[in-house]
Amino acid sequence: MGKKNIGQRSCMGCGRKAHKSELLRFVVDRKGDLVFDPGQRAPGRGGYFCRKEGCFDRATKKRRISIRFRRDVRVDLGSLMKNVREQLGGGSSGWPR
Ligand SMILES: [Zn+2]
Repeated sequence: MGKKNIGQRSCMGCGRKAHKSELLRFVVDRKGDLVFDPGQRAPGRGGYFCRKEGCFDRATKKRRISIRFRRDVRVDLGSLMKNVREQLGGGSSGWPR
């Protein structure tokens, strides 16, 4: 009782709740850019996404990332997706394209 939510995080795009191991963690660096945190250990506030590009799109359009981090956050979707794909090792992870 009351323990089932441990480790649960919400996706910033669709709001889906899942264990953090199913989600991708991101943090904002000193320059204000959103960066991937593959080890989920970077200090500071983190934000989570499903492994779906659509969730990034939605969060970016609705400014949910800036709201979550309480500051202006730059999101370079192209390079972010590239970095995530490289870190996750290609198509086996379920990441699109
Ligand atoms: Zn999502």
